[in-house]
Amino acid sequence: DLLKIGDTIFKFLCGKDIESSYHEEIYQMTISDGLTQIANKRFLLEFLEGEISRAKRYERNLALIMLDIDHFKQINDEFGHLTGDYVLKEMATLVKKRIRREELFARYGGEEFAIVLPETDEEGARDFAEIVRRIVEEAVFEFEGNLVPVTVSLGVAGITEKTSTPQSLIRVADERLYEAKRSGRNTVV
Ligand code: GH3
Ligand code: MG
Ligand code: MG
Repeated sequence: DLLKIGDTIFKFLCGKDIESSYHEEIYQMTISDGLTQIANKRFLLEFLEGEISRAKRYERNLALIMLDIDHFKQINDEFGHLTGDYVLKEMATLVKKRIRREELFARYGGEEFAIVLPETDEEGARDFAEIVRRIVEEAVFEFEGNLVPVTVSLGVAGITEKTSTPQSLIRVADERLYEAKRSGRNTVV
């Protein structure tokens, strides 16, 4: 049955119904990144918005890590875009393993990723960012017989009175990410 209330149409779909899995699939496509199969920017912003309100209301910690692959353009130029794609996928898979259920790992765009850590202060997030940095540095990326050296830079920001929107928290983490880049890459700020 269809039930229309204002502009919203509710449709009843039952259990293992083929149509409900179709809709689930469509929904997943709108919130995930096709290449890496992790959350996309759209889902990240929604998640962050919810987590910021929750953290503010209950005076809880919340931290954001922005991650950017170092000299990724060079990887594409030297080994080709398929190798670049492989690096993105493999890096996402490696990091994803360390992300807990209540946390979020998302592709922000291009070779930039974000990690949202509820109930974590800035210092705790910096420690985690350092673990991620080391995991990527020590991992072996091999594609079509080429060994590709991969490192990442990370910027960490904990929530404060001044960070009341996803954009404001992203801005601080981003500034620190660029500081990490300026200070020589493969580092956490
Ligand atoms: P930096 O260390 O300063 O971050 O340098 P960089 O080369 O990583 O940064 P830059 O922003 O110059 O280059 C990012 C490159 O990422 C350029 C773009 O073509 C590439 N890129 C973005 N999305 C994809 C993708 O989905 N696949 C591949 N293969 N490359 C991508
Ligand atoms: Mg970048
Ligand atoms: Mg980069």
